[in-house]
Amino acid sequence: MSKTGYLIDMDGVIYRENHLIAGAVEFVDALRSMGVPFLFLTNNSAPTPEDLAVRLNHLGILGISPKHFYTSALNTADFLVETHPGCTVFLIGEGGLQTALHERKIANDAIRPSYVVVGEGSASMERLAKAHECLERGARLLATNPDNWCPVGAEKTRPGAGATASFLEASSGRRAYYLGKPNGYMFHRARQKLQDLAMGPLGQVVMIGDTMETDIRGAVEAGLHGYLVLSGSTQMENLSDYVYQPTRVLQTVADLTDEIRTGKASDRMNSPVFADGGMATSRFGHRHQTDVLAFHKPRPRPAMTR
Ligand SMILES: [Mg+2]
Repeated sequence: MSKTGYLIDMDGVIYRENHLIAGAVEFVDALRSMGVPFLFLTNNSAPTPEDLAVRLNHLGILGISPKHFYTSALNTADFLVETHPGCTVFLIGEGGLQTALHERKIANDAIRPSYVVVGEGSASMERLAKAHECLERGARLLATNPDNWCPVGAEKTRPGAGATASFLEASSGRRAYYLGKPNGYMFHRARQKLQDLAMGPLGQVVMIGDTMETDIRGAVEAGLHGYLVLSGSTQMENLSDYVYQPTRVLQTVADLTDEIRTGKASDRMNSPVFADGGMATSRFGHRHQTDVLAFHKPRPRPAMTR
């Protein structure tokens, strides 16, 4: 039987704020006890894989090796090493980004760097001004991820790397290139890493995430299955706003624990969210582009990413 591997977003899927999502421990236990290949995939370029392992440990998911994490900072390092060996960078970012680039021997350069690389974290005006000068001297602009804002709580967000990159786009007139989800290069390298963990080819790869613009869009474009969980940033009633749709919709990752333990995958429409069965086909099987309900809804929050 061909193996299934899982790419798993973290915020909104495994935890929310500082709380584990109910059933997340059992879900990860099931993956581990069944030897199912998995990789946590995050657009947050601030932490290192070691930081993320410690964070999960504090939340109650114990002993996950750093090799089970792939961040947009690692993706940025992979991209630069592959496309421009020997390049130099001026960084706006935190430890996760600095470490990822340092480990791949990419040098810092504040005078004439090949790239200004923007990651998650607070940027001082002084640092932004320096980055702006580097761009004026010919550096190209690269961001670890396109998120304009990131959740920090149920009612609270913070500006993301996409917002910082927009600032520099405006000041320099240069356009940024965005790595991380939903960029295909993020999914390409994550899939490779997942296959390395599986020590062989995978029959199918499933992306589990809570955000349509990054997790589900990226999965669709990379030809993977996209499972949306409703434990994070997306509500069921907003699904019809999107051109791309998830393969399955789940309440939380806990809905998958049984099928991972039994090794019996459900079919496409068998989403626990649609427990009444018929609704799944009527809503998604024959969905109409001009859903009248959509006209009466309040405008959704502007997309998290560009
Ligand atoms: Mg998320």
